[in-house]
Amino acid sequence: MPGFEWLGQEETDAVNEVMQRGVLFRYEFADQRQGVYMVRRFEEEFAAYTGAGHACAVTSGSTALKVALAALGVGYGDEVITQGFTFVATWEAILDCGAKPVFCEVDETLCMDPADLKKKITDKTRCIVPVHMMGAQARIKEIMAIADEAGIPVLEDTAQSAGARLEGKHLGTFGAMGTFSFDSVKTLTCGEGGMVITNDPELAQNASEYQDHGHDHKPVGRGNEGRRFMGMNFRMMELQGALGVTQLAKLDRMVATQRRNKAALKEAIARVPGVTLRELPDEAGDSATFLAWFHETPEAADRFAALLAENGVPAIPWGKNTWHAYPHWEHLHAGSTTSKGGWPYERPEGRAEYDPAALPQTAAILSRCLSWQIMLGWDEAKLKQMTEAVNRAAAAL
Ligand SMILES: *Cc1c(COP(=O)(O)O)cnc(C)c1O
Repeated sequence: MPGFEWLGQEETDAVNEVMQRGVLFRYEFADQRQGVYMVRRFEEEFAAYTGAGHACAVTSGSTALKVALAALGVGYGDEVITQGFTFVATWEAILDCGAKPVFCEVDETLCMDPADLKKKITDKTRCIVPVHMMGAQARIKEIMAIADEAGIPVLEDTAQSAGARLEGKHLGTFGAMGTFSFDSVKTLTCGEGGMVITNDPELAQNASEYQDHGHDHKPVGRGNEGRRFMGMNFRMMELQGALGVTQLAKLDRMVATQRRNKAALKEAIARVPGVTLRELPDEAGDSATFLAWFHETPEAADRFAALLAENGVPAIPWGKNTWHAYPHWEHLHAGSTTSKGGWPYERPEGRAEYDPAALPQTAAILSRCLSWQIMLGWDEAKLKQMTEAVNRAAAAL
């Protein structure tokens, strides 16, 4: 997901132009800004790129989730289903808006398991948040069918999969809303930043006003007619908008480069005895930020990981990862919080408890999984060196 690799002269020029105009705020300053609105332009271009009707830029992928959940009307008393393999931000946002996260297993797509999703729906479920992990698709069509039947809106956390598609349609456009992150390790980066997309004009209006203290954004201007609800400040600034416009213009080239680099390594990994590749619902739409594969047992994965490290190409063992894997979120299990009253774990109806052993399928799948992040800067020589290292590691098995 390395947009930071391609921060170049274009980004420098775009940021300098904003500085020369001297307007850093996305709204107001009509006289000084000479008609230039970089955050608004980033929103318009991102909406056009993904095919969504509306886009609303915010400060991060985390606040994008928070704004989208607020726009959908999710809050205290509600349950939101997400998956046990994601970045902690997904469930932080759910807890932060007062709702209770309910965790669902992942399958060999490394995304939400539709069969387990069905079991987790209750009469309190108000939103389903599948995460398109590591550049590729969740089984979003199956998830949408289940959600539609139950009448529950879907919010796609697409933070890790900008530029990825399923059968030609951009991820983030299947559900009621989709969110993206532009933090420093995501494919498209503004240093920090996020985006909410939707086809629904009402949800778009909610999101736009919520991220700006609830100020009315209708019919023109801002803050003239009063507020429909309270919000907060999650506004993106013009410097980030300028970076976003510049990086978006490179996104398809980034994805093409990642796909080329991934293809070279995939062949070598697929030949390793006992290995199966991560299941992709649509390989042609993979943004190829990661190559992930499974071994037959956790011991076999550990052994191959050690051999790869010895050969100079260490892989990520997701089963041990403390940022993304449910079994290792010790603060969630302990209900740790800065709040002296214990919120958001202590609730009037009883404490929200999270058992580390609650997702055995996710734990088992992650413990057999290894992966590499695919970099843009790898050249032929580097890919050849990595392929040879894989072959040496496989021969030593
Ligand atoms: C990065 C990420 C986020 C949060 O994005 P930030 O911009 O870092 O706040 C949310 N969800 C997932 C799956 C992520 O990978």
